[in-house]
Amino acid sequence: MDLFLSGHVCNRKTLIITNPIKAIYMLLILLCFLPLQIFINNEWHDSVSGKKFEVFNPANEEKICEVEEGDKADVDKAVKAARKAFELGSPWRTMDASERGRLLNKLADLVERDRLILATMEAIDGGKLFSTAYLMDLGACIKTLHYCAGWADKIHGRTVPMDGNFFTFTRHEPIGVCGQIIPWNFPLVMFIWKIAPALCCGNTVVVKPAEQTPLTALYMGSLIKEAGFPPGVVNIVPGFGPTAGAAISHHMDVDKVAFTGSTEVGKLIKEAAGKSNLKRVTLELGGKSPNIIFADADLDTAVEFAHIGLFYHQGQCCIAGSRIFVEEPIYDEFVRRSIERAKKYTLGNPLLPGVQQGPQIDKEQFQKILELIESGKKEGAKLECGGGPWGDKGYFIQPTVFSNVTDDMRIAKEEIFGPVQQIMKFKTIDEVIKRANNTTYGLAAAVFTKDIDKALTFAAALQAGTVWVNCYSAMSAQCPFGGFKMSGNGREMGEYGLHEYTEVKTVTIKIPQKNS
Ligand code: ADP
Repeated sequence: MDLFLSGHVCNRKTLIITNPIKAIYMLLILLCFLPLQIFINNEWHDSVSGKKFEVFNPANEEKICEVEEGDKADVDKAVKAARKAFELGSPWRTMDASERGRLLNKLADLVERDRLILATMEAIDGGKLFSTAYLMDLGACIKTLHYCAGWADKIHGRTVPMDGNFFTFTRHEPIGVCGQIIPWNFPLVMFIWKIAPALCCGNTVVVKPAEQTPLTALYMGSLIKEAGFPPGVVNIVPGFGPTAGAAISHHMDVDKVAFTGSTEVGKLIKEAAGKSNLKRVTLELGGKSPNIIFADADLDTAVEFAHIGLFYHQGQCCIAGSRIFVEEPIYDEFVRRSIERAKKYTLGNPLLPGVQQGPQIDKEQFQKILELIESGKKEGAKLECGGGPWGDKGYFIQPTVFSNVTDDMRIAKEEIFGPVQQIMKFKTIDEVIKRANNTTYGLAAAVFTKDIDKALTFAAALQAGTVWVNCYSAMSAQCPFGGFKMSGNGREMGEYGLHEYTEVKTVTIKIPQKNS
């Protein structure tokens, strides 16, 4: 079966890339040269405080390296550089829009050139399967850069038929300095999703990667410089959330913050914007997405997509389909096949060919997931397989399937962010619409059916930023992505995503009349 993920259509067999030894060798060479510092004005800086933080490999819990730890003083330096690069008359502001596009295309080519290195870093730093990182994540990054490059000289205003004798037009101008705070589950994809639309619209940026996974962002600093972006256009400050992240969201000279992460921190960011300069805020937050399987669906397809929609990247996806509602007549068979599918997994080092599930990102997430699994057992869900840690090193969790889950259980309500599948039963359409929407989240949803009427009913009724029909996780740079309700504000990617990086200015010119 084909899997539609991150804009790729891949046959599962092609996901096994057999070059990890070369990849590790390249990474070792690279770590000797990778600047583990703060990137400001196209230069590498030590932190003002002199502090560094450690970065670990979640597959073996060993330290990979130490990185300079950015804090408020470093954010101030980065914002100053970004502001200067945004000044009228600067090389960036006077650059042709088509040239901005050329730079983004150049960056895409450099990412393509160094794809093996970047994919290896994602595997070692973030526990992501090397094959997935190479094909899916890097593929998505390259496509996104090209997509945004294409937009750079196509961002048009409009002429407006204003009442009176006026010529009125709108300009879509860059917002200014954009702070961008990104998570650890898709470190490079999120980095590109943030910088590419911002830059194609002419903004400058200060990016804070997640403290767990700063390496690919730092490597991107060297590629950004090599591509020829002027100094100060992209600045990268590795560090922690409550320090470096909060300094960005509270900063009086940051015009917009784009954040991907937890709902809890999303609230803090909005609050900080309100308490400082009312900066623009876009948020892409958590989810507890419903996946509804009708008895008339193709069962093989539904089981496979429900499986991938949850277990992809160890369940560490905001769109994870973690509430699976299955129509009563096929419930038992669906559960049986889902268990069979989950038991087929090979866990291990994400760099090794044949491994299908790597570790969770860190001890905190690992313990949180295990605690939620225990709550599922205690609250009466039926543990069908898995249910505990795997191996004696690294943050691995057995693929876990729960059946007989009810809506009031914690595993049916809370975002688990782990390889834990919840399967519930439903009887009627009205009932399942109500239950699917009974959540504070609204990021994604899916329905599997061969009945077009049911599909369209659900496409309209589900309160989610994305609704998939007979597929799951299908995403690409052209499609807007974001959440209803507490899953976020605003959209990323697609033309809609560009609106979040421009201010609309109305310009009105008086037209002199012959007799006036
Ligand atoms: P998770 O719980 O999945 O780690 P978080 O929302 O905590 O997700 O983290 C996502 C990003 O937000 C990371 O880059 C993190 O450093 C940052 N972050 C965490 N706390 C804050 C904060 N108080 N202000 C700004 N950024 C933060």
